Amino acid sequence: MSQPSSNRQGVEIHLSVLASGSGGNCTYINFSKSTTIQNSSSFLIDLGIGPRTLHQRCRSLGIFPQTIRFIVLTHTHSDHWNERSFSFLLQNKIIFYCHRDHSEELSSMSDRFRQLMKANLIRHYSNDEDFSPTPGLIVRAKHVPHDRSPTFAFQMQFSANPRTSSSSQGVQGVHLGYATDLGNFPDSLIDFFRNLDLLLLEFNHDIQMLRNSNRPDFLINRILSGEGHLSNHQACEFLKKIIEKSDERKLRYLFQLHLSRDCNLPEIAHKEATNVLNNLMMQTDIFTAHQNIPTPLLFLENLSTSHSTHSSS
Ligand SMILES: [Zn+2]
Ligand SMILES: [Zn+2]
Repeated sequence: MSQPSSNRQGVEIHLSVLASGSGGNCTYINFSKSTTIQNSSSFLIDLGIGPRTLHQRCRSLGIFPQTIRFIVLTHTHSDHWNERSFSFLLQNKIIFYCHRDHSEELSSMSDRFRQLMKANLIRHYSNDEDFSPTPGLIVRAKHVPHDRSPTFAFQMQFSANPRTSSSSQGVQGVHLGYATDLGNFPDSLIDFFRNLDLLLLEFNHDIQMLRNSNRPDFLINRILSGEGHLSNHQACEFLKKIIEKSDERKLRYLFQLHLSRDCNLPEIAHKEATNVLNNLMMQTDIFTAHQNIPTPLLFLENLSTSHSTHSSS
């Protein structure tokens, strides 16, 4: 459908990785339609930090945690949810999206999670099915190999025009991919992440640093296994394949997530990703997320008009 160019509609996104690593994971996203800022909606991917840390990190960026409307959970390892933060969700009536298996597990462990259930704040998503937590946002969860099953990656399509499918074919808006805590990347996951504007991806460890670490063998083997975490090398291979399979080389931002404190260095992860992106002639900005400092609040927008230069093939 064509629109008059005077009636420009698009999406605006603010994003910060508030915390990333085995000490707690949390990503903040605010989404609004350019012409209707009052429709702005904020949410988190994972909430593995306590309420005080959440408030501190938000305050340092000038954002208000009270505006958060919902959370989307990847999996139930303890660095991705926080018992005390469940009280914050309850107080603010924040919806919590997770898989049915997650809620079974969390309800067996957490009294406060059971209170969220009683308050009707839990919603379930299913593997490989779209869900829409707020108008203009379509999310699809995809099962990934990790040793806390089930664990999910997410594809998110932000659009000014409500859609019914996350299919990237011809969709204008902003297209985001999120994958952390995965031991490898099956071909289906490469397809899942085609044609992204923004990718948040785990760069967990440098293989040599991990092998040379004084961690016990069982832990090293667990991390290196196909159900552990992505090394820098694996993440780079994954990134390369995603870009090569994409119709348009439009990846604008890469966020590197879940770096190991002992077995990785931001400089190494950054350098390896830079090499891959340079070899592919990409103009992608890289942000390396930290455990204790939020990434700067990134602003991006996509205006979709009848004169848009985006291909819809
Ligand atoms: Zn984790
Ligand atoms: Zn995990």
